[in-house]
Amino acid sequence: MTTKPRVLQIGPLAGSPSAQERLQASYTPLELWKQEDKAAFIAREAQDVRVVVTTASFGCPADVINALPKLEAICSWGVGYDSIDVEAAHARKVLVSNTPDVLTDCVADLAWGLMLGVSRRIAQGDRYVREGSWGQVHGAFPLGVRVSGKKLGIVGLGRIGEAIARRGTGFDMDVRYHSRRQRNDTDYGYEASLESLAAWADYLVIATVGGPSTRHLINAPVLDALGPQGIIVNIARGSVIDEAAMVEALSSGKLGGAGLDVFEHEPKVPDALKKMDSVVLLPHVGSATLETREAMAGMLFDNLASFFADGKVITPV
Ligand code: NAP
Repeated sequence: MTTKPRVLQIGPLAGSPSAQERLQASYTPLELWKQEDKAAFIAREAQDVRVVVTTASFGCPADVINALPKLEAICSWGVGYDSIDVEAAHARKVLVSNTPDVLTDCVADLAWGLMLGVSRRIAQGDRYVREGSWGQVHGAFPLGVRVSGKKLGIVGLGRIGEAIARRGTGFDMDVRYHSRRQRNDTDYGYEASLESLAAWADYLVIATVGGPSTRHLINAPVLDALGPQGIIVNIARGSVIDEAAMVEALSSGKLGGAGLDVFEHEPKVPDALKKMDSVVLLPHVGSATLETREAMAGMLFDNLASFFADGKVITPV
């Protein structure tokens, strides 16, 4: 009987229905999140471990990486790796893999859901019908704003940003983007300054990476430039927007609306936002469809199998 390779698992694979069972079927996961004294557990049980299994939410900090002398690979479920100390991993020649591409379409779809949801007051209308206000209150349900034909500004024209942009063409939108570098393989207009993109756009959709390099990239001056008719949508990471500045801009009417799948201190959401009809709030579900979550699990297991077969991962970071 062959023994199943032992892997250190940072957090549960709760987002894909079958992923935890599949992990247990082929590997022996050491379940770090269940341990009270994590450092003692690693020192006692994980000194021979070659692979860490984690997710974009649980990540892997430098102290865990450096407490594993035999570590060779960190395989993560999710595309964002801002919660993994990639620098510490690479300093020790530890491979890091993620699950890109397979979630791109569903995250882009959700960004569009948020744009439409805020503009056409879809969640607000649903609340209005459910609470029995239709036909009961004076005046009509408030008007929304037109989406088709408007100006769409994308911050970060990567895999997801580009998929959001492509959908914009179907809505007859004019699309421009900002990232650190202009791409020479696309015809979308480039704005070298984030503020000038915000000043031009009706919708500013955030699709950059998270982490320290983009923290509070969207600050009060950018929100001011987007203006009272402007709508911001964030499917990237909560840290990219200065959340306090955004709440202030929405409260004072300096910003028109917001569609948010991600927040600065998840799962905490500012109470002020929960009282506003100009925002739509979601619990970080960009990739949360059955098909995509299964595909992400498949890619995680392909990376694990590849590493244990020949020491390589398929989708390195
Ligand atoms: P990607 O292909 O690597 O694209 C990231 C883009 O961000 C690139 O175009 C990059 O362009 C740009 N960028 C990086 N730093 C920037 C900066 N300082 N200013 C402006 N642009 C910057 O990644 P992806 O697959 O599209 O995923 C994007 C992010 O979406 C992930 O990192 C993750 O955080 C988030 N995400 C969220 C969910 C969800 O459930 N809501 C699900 C999946 C992913 P340059 O390098 O040229 O600047």
